[in-house]
Amino acid sequence: MSVATLTPAALRAAADTLPRARLAHLPTPLEEVPRFAAAVGGGVRVFVKRDDCTGLLLGGNKARHNEFLLGDAVDQGCDVVVWGAGVQSNNCRQTAAGCAKLGLECRLYLSRGHYSTEPQGNLLLDYLVGAKVEFTDAAIGPELDAFLASRAAEFRAAGRKPYFWHRPRVVPLAAVSYAVCVAEIAEQLSSRGLGAAGIYVSSSGATGAGVALGAAVLGLSSAVRLICPMHWPWHIPTAIAADANAAAERLGIEHRLRPEDIDADENFIAPGYGLPSPAGREALHLLATTEAILTDPVYSAKALAGLIADVRARKYRPGSVLVFVHTGGVPAVFADPAAVLN
Ligand SMILES: *Cc1c(COP(=O)(O)O)cnc(C)c1O
Repeated sequence: MSVATLTPAALRAAADTLPRARLAHLPTPLEEVPRFAAAVGGGVRVFVKRDDCTGLLLGGNKARHNEFLLGDAVDQGCDVVVWGAGVQSNNCRQTAAGCAKLGLECRLYLSRGHYSTEPQGNLLLDYLVGAKVEFTDAAIGPELDAFLASRAAEFRAAGRKPYFWHRPRVVPLAAVSYAVCVAEIAEQLSSRGLGAAGIYVSSSGATGAGVALGAAVLGLSSAVRLICPMHWPWHIPTAIAADANAAAERLGIEHRLRPEDIDADENFIAPGYGLPSPAGREALHLLATTEAILTDPVYSAKALAGLIADVRARKYRPGSVLVFVHTGGVPAVFADPAAVLN
């Protein structure tokens, strides 16, 4: 049985029933990039959803996520946020920023991996907004998740009220924020009399779950292409569909997605998570030199490379409208200029 679609206003109203901290500059602009589109060829029109301009300490998708996550933390009466990811994590930088703004203590456990721990890029910003940073050799994924859970347990034992990176709770809430982003995009397109043939976004998780859910709930005919920045030790479409469905439950809406509804492309990751690719480098330079919009080599440039590859493969008819959701990540370029310079 098919489920009735929602209007953007109704989807927003469903999200408004959840606890939320207003942290992001919304709505972000939907900006056409004609010089970039002409350079790519194929006669398509390209619009960039400028989520690199969400504010909260230099922008990015984690500003939207954190409205619901830190809203949840405040609603639960938490007093310390226990978070972690890589040293140059955009997630941790914007969480640290949200904590500063809300008066929450922020504890970051950053996985060293191949990163330098020099205070540059996102790490420098973590320090500047007062986060307490420790480094760990726990690998991003299940190992770091378990480490964060154990730190949270220690804070609880010491009488504190921690809010921590507990995937089953935080990922669906983060996804809600990107369903709302799609409602913004739908309104911005329809006010111009347009509909998108394709929506592109960098994600292996929450962001993509939200975009896929939003497009389904609103009944958009757009192809939703999730260009993965990283592999996970689990089947990504299965996890994303489950997270989208958990988000739908939190929103009290009936739509459900199946793994086969999720188009998560893992072909643009090589040579690996966090490492620049030739196609990403080309995409970064093309958008920067035609439109003066910067992407980052870890996430957004690789997703843009996915869009370029599809256009060059003639997947879209001339005149088609494509939306590139720019998830941010730009502070990381200062930590590793060699990754972006030609
Ligand atoms: C975190 C991040 C993403 C992807 O987020 P998911 O959790 O995989 O949805 C994409 N782009 C940037 C810049 C990010 O920081």
